[in-house]
Amino acid sequence: MPRLKHPPVGWGGSNAEAQKDDTELLDLQTRDNSLKLEKIEVPGSDVTLICDTSMPRTRPFVLASERRRVFNALHGLRLPGSRATVRLISLRFVWPRVQSDCRNWSRACLHCQRSKITRHNSSPLQTFASTPL
Ligand SMILES: [Zn+2]
Repeated sequence: MPRLKHPPVGWGGSNAEAQKDDTELLDLQTRDNSLKLEKIEVPGSDVTLICDTSMPRTRPFVLASERRRVFNALHGLRLPGSRATVRLISLRFVWPRVQSDCRNWSRACLHCQRSKITRHNSSPLQTFASTPL
């Protein structure tokens, strides 16, 4: 039976109770896709999370309000590039368009932009418009 070994690093804090009325989640549960969503208990707590169990690693579904926090927690550790960040997060968590969200947020990350500018030191700090999906 699929299970979580512990609450994943960066987990947003919502439980199955909060997840159950989420329209995006309801949409995922009723539409045909490769996800296998079920309730999983987090050991050592009374928390139950709705997780995707279609992959070797059980991945909690993250509510829209908590995605940015999850991104910050994982991307903020070592500021990996956008591709590494997408891999880091989509291995551990699931939400619709997780890859494009993480890619966009990585590209917009001020810490990463600043460290790049220090290295190349040729272009001034500027705001980039976000790329359409
Ligand atoms: Zn960054």
